[in-house]
Amino acid sequence: MGFIPVNEPLLNGNEKKYLCECIDTGWISSEGPFVKEFEQKMSHSVNRKFGVAVANGTAALEVAVQALEIGKDDEVIMPTFTIISCAMAVTKVGAKPVLVDSDKNTWNMNIDEIESKITSKTKAIMVVHLYGLPVEIDKVLEIAKKYNLKVIEDAAEMHGQTYLGKPCGSFGDISIFSFYPNKHITTGEGGMIVTDDEELTEKCKSIRNLCFKKDVRYVHDEISDNYRFTNLQAAVGLAQLERIDEFVKIKRNMGTYYTERLKDVKGIKLPITKTNYAENIYWVYGIVLDESITLDNREIQKKFAEEGIGTRTFFWCMHEQPVYIKMGFFRNEKYPNAEYLARKGFYIPSGLALTDEQRKRVVESVKKVMKEIA
Ligand SMILES: *Cc1c(COP(=O)(O)O)cnc(C)c1O
Repeated sequence: MGFIPVNEPLLNGNEKKYLCECIDTGWISSEGPFVKEFEQKMSHSVNRKFGVAVANGTAALEVAVQALEIGKDDEVIMPTFTIISCAMAVTKVGAKPVLVDSDKNTWNMNIDEIESKITSKTKAIMVVHLYGLPVEIDKVLEIAKKYNLKVIEDAAEMHGQTYLGKPCGSFGDISIFSFYPNKHITTGEGGMIVTDDEELTEKCKSIRNLCFKKDVRYVHDEISDNYRFTNLQAAVGLAQLERIDEFVKIKRNMGTYYTERLKDVKGIKLPITKTNYAENIYWVYGIVLDESITLDNREIQKKFAEEGIGTRTFFWCMHEQPVYIKMGFFRNEKYPNAEYLARKGFYIPSGLALTDEQRKRVVESVKKVMKEIA
């Protein structure tokens, strides 16, 4: 019995065909024709006018923050329980992440805490949809409107998800996606900014490519970076995007399969299957140990490894990141729900290529491990 990795992507559509086209035509750089086609198709698939493809999701967040001209001493409200890319995009420009705790049930940011965190320095709210369920975005948009704040929507894990029928990625002043191999659509590495604002789009394109002065090559007014996205990545992305509906079905089917078989296992809490605004798409299938279990997620991870099952712990909170503590951020701040998730949450193999045989073995292992420790 082989090891079951926590994620394996599905690349058996037109990926190879489109990649061969890149090789045959010689178009492998960011100048190739697939890049624009992918930007159009991806952005239109989430009802946005424009897309700017970049090197990865982290880069997309950085470009978004810079394009919105968030800078020194500005504040951006975000969840403490998220990937560090969100906070880094903000601290990189000298701005300050201001954190909110998590909702125990959805694992998303607790939107009821947002308003109390707004100050005269607040510039934006960074909404991050996590693990398969969207944030209750209408309420966030209302707050943003009331206080005249920008919304950056991190939809990295939400390809194919909707909020009350409208696509995730369609809500922010700027929204971003990642195409890392554990996302529903992958390009190996990759990311995209989507928006309806033409001026922001032009800014993002400039930031993506070293901020070349318009019409004068090799002359620059601003510091930037090379965040470009290649034709090879776009070739894979186009093939993946053709199958997004199928991929979402596979994920939901996996979620239902796991939930049906694990719902009576003692000591664990499973992801909620739906809220009144969305049905879970299980970016990954997360499990949270309940209060009866004394072990933490890292210890559990070892037990699953012995069973030949790959797992991954949940994100680690921003206010507990050694790098931010060292920099003097978040002193004495406490976010109990997020801290609990970070210590007790993990996810089991959930990739698109997961076979029936594999998921059966995963279920057996979860039952076995939990019986041993309960
Ligand atoms: C994956 C992810 C990112 C970062 O994307 P990369 O492509 O890995 O840089 C950002 N935000 C969230 C919520 C993610 O899950």
